Amino acid sequence: MDFFSKKARGIAPYTAGEQLRDKTYIKLNTNENPYPPSPRVKEVLERFPAEDLRLYPRPDADLLRQAIAEREGMSPENVFCGNGSDEVLALSFPAFFDPDGAGACFADITYSFYEVFAAFFGIPTRIVPLLADFTFDLDALRRTDCQGYYIANPNAPTGIGIGRETLEQFAVSVPDRIVILDEAYMDFFGESCVPLIGRCPNVLVVKTFSKSYALAGIRCGYAIGDRALIAALLRMKDCFNSYPVDGVAQAVCTAAVQDTAYYSAVTQNVVSERKRVQNALRDMGFTVPESASNFLFAGRAKAGGKEIYTRLKEAGVLVRFWDKPVLRDFVRITVGTAEQNDALLRQLKEILS
Ligand code: PMP
Repeated sequence: MDFFSKKARGIAPYTAGEQLRDKTYIKLNTNENPYPPSPRVKEVLERFPAEDLRLYPRPDADLLRQAIAEREGMSPENVFCGNGSDEVLALSFPAFFDPDGAGACFADITYSFYEVFAAFFGIPTRIVPLLADFTFDLDALRRTDCQGYYIANPNAPTGIGIGRETLEQFAVSVPDRIVILDEAYMDFFGESCVPLIGRCPNVLVVKTFSKSYALAGIRCGYAIGDRALIAALLRMKDCFNSYPVDGVAQAVCTAAVQDTAYYSAVTQNVVSERKRVQNALRDMGFTVPESASNFLFAGRAKAGGKEIYTRLKEAGVLVRFWDKPVLRDFVRITVGTAEQNDALLRQLKEILS
């Protein structure tokens, strides 16, 4: 007798990237930012009044919502905050999809947490294969009967981005279906669909503090959308955890979101290193789709992903590998600092020679 429910026994949970502590790795496997968060974050942490921790935090993170709204050119009623964008995405399933509905539609190669959330909440799925060049088949998505969509833009693990205009046409063509755009990596692309929100009441954009804001350790993400969509998320939150964003996280993220100068400089560094590493990988014979994110999806028919991953790990460089059809020829490499990227390229050259 293990007391497991049928769900606990049967479900296949999401596997997060390795967070190894056995030695110091050059860690290019979970798309963290290689640069530290804004200096304002350090100030907030140093000044945070410990006695305030006696009290529960603001349940709806009002001040943070206000700061995000200002940054995004929206109003606080258009913003919902959660414990990482994973939690926001999780709550969006019961908020917008029914177990006996037409299902949640997404690509076969995309963020693999979507199918775990769908299974957890008992929502049927409709899986549409990517095209041969790893881009989304938006026509096939449109033709698929469903309650709505999850589109990671840029997509993971391919790194490929879709322009705002294309997604506007898509959203307008499916007015009765919700279009959830997971923009975890959008700051490295700059084609956010937040400007569509006034015109497209079916668009919900989900963002995170984990990547461009260099705050993966704090666990905060948010959604932006029409007030009615935000209201549905708030209802789900209050059925699960009234205080998903703790007081420290609210203060830290509020400071971060206001430091646009620092973050645009850091993002610029990542984007220019991305170009350099992408070119170097292609010169070594890797197939690398054009990346709009802070990582590169690099494949090589002869030395498969597993060998590259294993040999790099032995050499102290962690990248991500999936032992799944199509993906197994590839590794996903987070763009690091110039020194980290140099070390990666050096090791790869040695492995391939
Ligand atoms: N969406 C995508 C596409 C991701 O790759 C990730 C990071 N694993 C997330 C959402 C979740 O990020 P977080 O929960 O840290 O906000």
